[in-house]
Amino acid sequence: MKITRISVFQKDLALEHPYWLSGGRLKFEVLDATFVKVDTDDGVTGWGEGTPWGHTYVPAHGPGIRAGIETMAAFVLGLDPRNSLDVERAMDLSLPGHLYAKSPVDMACWDIAGQASGRSIADMLGGGSRTPAPIASSVGAKSVEETREVMDRYRARGYWVHSVKVGGDVDRDIERIRDVEAMKPRGERILYDVNRAWSRQQALRVMKATEDLGVMFEQPCESLDDIAAIRPLHAAPVSVDESLVSLQDATRIAREGLAEVFGIKLNRVGGLTKAARMRDVALAHGIDMFIMATGGTVLADAEALHLAATVPDHNMLGVWSCQDMLTGDVAGGRGPRNQDGHLHLPEAPGLGVHPDEDALGDPVAVYEDVAR
Ligand code: MG
Repeated sequence: MKITRISVFQKDLALEHPYWLSGGRLKFEVLDATFVKVDTDDGVTGWGEGTPWGHTYVPAHGPGIRAGIETMAAFVLGLDPRNSLDVERAMDLSLPGHLYAKSPVDMACWDIAGQASGRSIADMLGGGSRTPAPIASSVGAKSVEETREVMDRYRARGYWVHSVKVGGDVDRDIERIRDVEAMKPRGERILYDVNRAWSRQQALRVMKATEDLGVMFEQPCESLDDIAAIRPLHAAPVSVDESLVSLQDATRIAREGLAEVFGIKLNRVGGLTKAARMRDVALAHGIDMFIMATGGTVLADAEALHLAATVPDHNMLGVWSCQDMLTGDVAGGRGPRNQDGHLHLPEAPGLGVHPDEDALGDPVAVYEDVAR
């Protein structure tokens, strides 16, 4: 089997509610999504998606994905998409770095491999849990009142895992955390996500002031060096996601004991092939996981769900359903959808959901294997 054509589609995904990222980084209302359709000489077609969470979150933006694919396409065409390591190496050789541009191509290849073998991606990865995965909410950085309102909206849809964005004014953050904890129903799982916004001393102020609550913080500072520097000075459990990019990051965090939780973002780390190695590092070091896309539709959510299913239930803290924050739907209601705060693993071969091509419009670029 050979890859004969790579078609790239662009679509703006409107958010139902405008979103304010921690640390005063831009309000945004639309996500720039890239969909990748990979055709083969066997007639099997796979789909991938890359949707950054705006362009101020991590070093990723929609045009960058499309430019990256343009650069890598000639090196990927003609390869057997079922050989994920061959495709990975071709992309890494033709364009070092730029992991987020590689993720949708990797995803489409896993989709093809699954369809060709009649198995879901989770089963291709070795077998997946059928326990429905809890979905974490994403509660933007707002006032105490707005935080309550947004969390209640999620609770009404079955959510019991929440990612509450903090990382603004330190005193207001402490007030919001105390309020959320005071209002928290029994059994809810809450993560306070700083999105790198605090300096070391700001992080320590909040962590010290909330020590009695025993709450967990995600990505409290900019870098792993910052997180390592404050680690001996506080007692709070930590999750790392934005600084978890390479396998070397994963092994450093594990070896130095910098975090109790990995937040593995598939597009951030370069796709399923690379993310699966981070999962193994986490499991080998007693580190639990959140697994999700950086954003996007049911396709991106489905990909993350397949990897999440390969983590033992008691190490799997949650996935995300960014699709729940969008006004449109590219897959006509198909694929894994929120069912009382959980996503259920699709059983169809491959990814288990494809977009309606009509919903994507014409491709913005098509690359073909001219040697064929
Ligand atoms: Mg995060």
